[in-house]
Amino acid sequence: MFPTSLSPSRSSDFLQCPLLYRFRTIDQLPEEPSKAAIRGTLVHKVLENLFELPAGERTVSGAKKIFELELSHLHQVRPEEFQIVVGESQPVTEVSSFIESALESVTPLLDTYFTMEDPSRLEPFAREMALSVELSDDFSIRGFIDRVDKSPQGAIRVVDYKTGKSPGERYAEKAMFQMRFYALAWWKITNDIPHTLQIMYLGDGKFLRYQPDLSDLAATEKRILAIRSAIERSAELGSFSPSPSKLCNWCSYKSMCPAFDGTPPELPDRHLWTSGTSLVEDALRSTLNVSGE
Ligand code: SF4
Repeated sequence: MFPTSLSPSRSSDFLQCPLLYRFRTIDQLPEEPSKAAIRGTLVHKVLENLFELPAGERTVSGAKKIFELELSHLHQVRPEEFQIVVGESQPVTEVSSFIESALESVTPLLDTYFTMEDPSRLEPFAREMALSVELSDDFSIRGFIDRVDKSPQGAIRVVDYKTGKSPGERYAEKAMFQMRFYALAWWKITNDIPHTLQIMYLGDGKFLRYQPDLSDLAATEKRILAIRSAIERSAELGSFSPSPSKLCNWCSYKSMCPAFDGTPPELPDRHLWTSGTSLVEDALRSTLNVSGE
């Protein structure tokens, strides 16, 4: 049976475009990470490590210091991604001369974060938490939660950071799908329904919040199983159709997409298929030692 697992990202890929899902998950075709993606991962790492500091040091300047450390680490372990994030076409030997401009690009995001909450008053229950749980015998859901807060009364808040701007009303439901996904996994593992799902948009300082209930989680489970069945049907037919949209402008595989006169490679042999994360996602996360989804 395929797939044997699904994450919110891979589910969204399939819903956006089955061929995109195939390229990322089955073919495992490499993608060059965008500047925004690398910067976003760096900011996630800063917000994760911020809580390593004593409460009184969780300030904008503390966050900036962490960013500098993470940027230097990126330069050491993956210099080509460092080049992308600082916008330099040639290999960089002197990191310090690029730190200021890189900091400038993330300062608005970090400043906005500190207007949204006071991290000195929070002690997260978990950060960058990996979740995986079986929904059926041969199928599990998995993902990584940016942060979990627990109130003194035990109420759970699942928190996700986004470095972009909040979506319009029309797209809010789509944005919340990832959070419902996590809520379902949390509930399956702990038997406790999270009290609040919260997305923090650092691009414009807005929150998206939702309080799920049992019927939401049941509906989410049904939906995920339906996505899985749709993928399974495509896999049986060996057919993952392109589904062109405005998002094609950001697709790394446009040149091999039939919707744009390209030719996809042959499907790999079935025994080589995995349900894994994309190579780019894996590379970025291992580079920055982040396990987030
Ligand atoms: S270019 Fe568009 S239609 Fe083609 S694979 Fe990418 S997302 Fe799908």
